[in-house]
Amino acid sequence: MDLSIEKDYEWTFMSDKQKGLIQVFNEIFPNADHRFCVRHLHSNFKNAGFRGQAFKCALWKCAMATTVNGFGRNMKEMRDLDECEADWFNDKTPNQWSRSHFTDFSKCDMLLNNGCESFNSSILEARDKPILSMCEWIIEYLMKRMQVNRDTAEQRWTGSFCPKIQKVIDQNFAELGDGILIKSDNFHYQVSCHDGRQYSVDLKNGTCGCRNWDLSGIPCKHALSAIDAQRLDYYEFTHKCYRVDYYRMVYAPTIMPIKGRDEWNPTDQIPPMPPNVGRSAERPKKERRRERDEVEERGKKEKEEKC
Ligand SMILES: [Zn+2]
Repeated sequence: MDLSIEKDYEWTFMSDKQKGLIQVFNEIFPNADHRFCVRHLHSNFKNAGFRGQAFKCALWKCAMATTVNGFGRNMKEMRDLDECEADWFNDKTPNQWSRSHFTDFSKCDMLLNNGCESFNSSILEARDKPILSMCEWIIEYLMKRMQVNRDTAEQRWTGSFCPKIQKVIDQNFAELGDGILIKSDNFHYQVSCHDGRQYSVDLKNGTCGCRNWDLSGIPCKHALSAIDAQRLDYYEFTHKCYRVDYYRMVYAPTIMPIKGRDEWNPTDQIPPMPPNVGRSAERPKKERRRERDEVEERGKKEKEEKC
């Protein structure tokens, strides 16, 4: 109700696969997409005994495959590596963890829930405060953050698309020479790549055989070759959600300032009380426990930043 969800098929939820959530999603939003964070999936995979780089690569190749056939090829490679490894996925439907089976409604090919992980760590300071102070802290944090984002889009972004998206488009443009084009009609092209793969591009429906365009809404190198061949503007073929004016629209609503507590209107409601839960003897943990490879990656990043 809070999110005003009317058409559940328009929504994609991503979770770290907590048991209760799956049941609730299936009951309340039967048509919504439900993805599992692949980092969490990999962590469960390791705990099942599949440790090491080869297993990790095999899992990620399957997760990142964008076509059903590509997924099948990568699963076969995984099966060749270890039969039991592939069997571990038997009760996990690929539409929850592989791009090859994601629907293309959300225009989002994300495999990780990094967004909420970083939000969670940014509110660490607030999380052990009493409920009202915590809400006030988060409101102020969001108030500042939304204004910073508005200022950035207003003062620093001069292009039509947000800079990270423009970078992806530029990278795809840089690989244009990779394919040989055959025009089928004004909207359809066949693109043969040097690696022997062949794709069909449909400019009318915004799709390509590699499915990267369908999934993300950003034209892939095959689509860009067709767009370029017709001297069309890629602006028209990139999803509008990536435009700077849409970004501005997202951050346009304002969180209004709040007056001090002594000026609040008294109510006859019962004041919120802390939850009635027992405290453990040890100091509560604030940071999420990280996996070993996450700690190593983090250390590497910090080292690189220092250099
Ligand atoms: Zn493509």
